[in-house]
Amino acid sequence: MKRGAITVDVDPVPGLDPWDTAVPRILDLLGAVDVRATFFVTGSLVDGPRAGRVLRDAVARGHEVASHSHTHPGGFGALDAARQAEELDTAAATLADATGAPVVGFRAPAWDAGVVTLQLLAERGYRYDSSACPTWLAPLGRAAARWFRRPVRPFGPAAWQRAPLAPYHVDPDAPWRAGGGALVEVPVGVTWGRLPAWSTPTALVPGPVRAAVRRGWLAGPAPVWLLHAHDVVDVPRPWSMPPVDARVAMIVAWLRAARDALALQTVRELADAC
Ligand SMILES: [Zn+2]
Repeated sequence: MKRGAITVDVDPVPGLDPWDTAVPRILDLLGAVDVRATFFVTGSLVDGPRAGRVLRDAVARGHEVASHSHTHPGGFGALDAARQAEELDTAAATLADATGAPVVGFRAPAWDAGVVTLQLLAERGYRYDSSACPTWLAPLGRAAARWFRRPVRPFGPAAWQRAPLAPYHVDPDAPWRAGGGALVEVPVGVTWGRLPAWSTPTALVPGPVRAAVRRGWLAGPAPVWLLHAHDVVDVPRPWSMPPVDARVAMIVAWLRAARDALALQTVRELADAC
């Protein structure tokens, strides 16, 4: 059976405590379909005993906790090396302290990892990066960010658009290519034609299109799905999102389809098998 992974990004959202409802609800949804996942957690959100309890519960259920930076800054891959290192090290220490398990994986905010980012991960002995989202829509995302004057650079440097779709050992000088590095890149899954398949755009398209996106995603060499913890709670969004019940129904349907078609593992396990 083909391998795949479910990943959950825990982002800072104004007014939302992810440990209150969002992450526990996702743990319940994953438990109901008996699927293990990888949580990419923003370190600064881990700020009290409840966060620690939820994360230890996640690890006890077989999920992986990995790093999504400490403060989720925009333009991550373009920050200077010292700032990136501080983000990595503070998050890793915070998460390891909360879960008791070392952090071996990273996903950059807005998929924006640069050459320096992956060099820093390799120096620190990380097993993998999962920041690549190799989609041809990346230039549109970057243009939209400029248009709305958002301080982000979605999808990072343009070369990531052509990255391999299956997990690969990176070329340390050009991590969007396969090479001889120890670090493994585990790209976020896209469809045929490299259209994005993560939860937010998928929730916005009509049901038949969504089913086609899911089939296209499942057809990839090692499908990795990304949802956000705040997808399962009512939060104000900058665009019109379907009601929370519809989003949860979509996620459950997607998890069931992935469970039936794939051998779902943590991203660390995908990287270890590379
Ligand atoms: Zn994020």
